Amino acid sequence: MAFLRENSRTLLLKTTALAAVAAFIQGCAQTPAQQPPSEATIAAHVAAATRDAGTDLVPLLDLCKPAPAAQPPQAELDKGLKALIDKPAPPPGQAFDNLYFVGADWVSAWAIKTSDGIILIDALNNQMEAAALIEGGMRGLGLDPAQIKYVVVTHGHGDHYGGAPYLAQKYRARVVMSEADWTMTETKLEFATPVWGAPPKRGAGDVSAKDGDRLTLGDTTVTLYITPGHTMGTISPVFDVTSNGQKHRAMLWGGTAFNFGKNVPRLGSYIDATRRMGTVVQAQKIDVLLSNHSAIDSSQARLATLRQQQPAGAANPFVIGTPAVSRALNVMGECAQAQRDRFVLQ
Ligand SMILES: [Zn+2]
Repeated sequence: MAFLRENSRTLLLKTTALAAVAAFIQGCAQTPAQQPPSEATIAAHVAAATRDAGTDLVPLLDLCKPAPAAQPPQAELDKGLKALIDKPAPPPGQAFDNLYFVGADWVSAWAIKTSDGIILIDALNNQMEAAALIEGGMRGLGLDPAQIKYVVVTHGHGDHYGGAPYLAQKYRARVVMSEADWTMTETKLEFATPVWGAPPKRGAGDVSAKDGDRLTLGDTTVTLYITPGHTMGTISPVFDVTSNGQKHRAMLWGGTAFNFGKNVPRLGSYIDATRRMGTVVQAQKIDVLLSNHSAIDSSQARLATLRQQQPAGAANPFVIGTPAVSRALNVMGECAQAQRDRFVLQ
């Protein structure tokens, strides 16, 4: 979920001397120093995020706005979610030769086409959306939903698992979730609302993903990295995509917002995950950054660009390059550090 935000407050973009020196030494790497949290360290982290966002990653800076210390009251949560779900859905679309968007306006689902069926990443809010947007969208794009073999649920919030039980049952697809998030959905949901479908019930064929697990179907392997923070078992899948036959490598950041309330250790996990995946991005030359919310990866706008692109074969707008993917992780990590410092000071 990425919708729980308070209004931003003005932050002085003051860089401390130490942060400036560190930034000089480290180029665009994250500010490393663990100084005692203060208004100055918060401002320095926001300044670093703003610098790394440049002009192309500005939507990510939403993450630097102060996050709420507690969840909203139930009625407010239900109402807010319903308003988001009621927004008209965008058309489905094809981002790469082997990757298709079958999402809602607010939350995305992605279908990876392999030589032996389809790996679906996320299942939207509920059965109705799974039927209309995932099954309907796939048919509209020439894909057969009966070919869905796996449903990877990036994390245990209902906007990603709500449609999973329906698809799993109808197509005997195997649900993949991390052990931490299976346990969370089986014991105590972090967010519970009737607006979402029930979480999937773990069956014999379902998968508990561990960090670094490789999910192979036909000619395609998806590596499942556990990136704790947004939930403690968030999965960020990494896989190859091709555009007009040219290979690229994509990472789907599986959970972005700080909507878990005042929890400093959890922000620490988030910060660690952005740093760790920063090294993975460099090592694997990941040049495509995807999200399960199109406000994060601008997927709707990029798909619209692709639809209008003439001639076919021009640059794919989803390919942003390895330096930009690295900067995106820095932005998220710096915003997490700013929020950690805010919570420590509260
Ligand atoms: Zn979520």
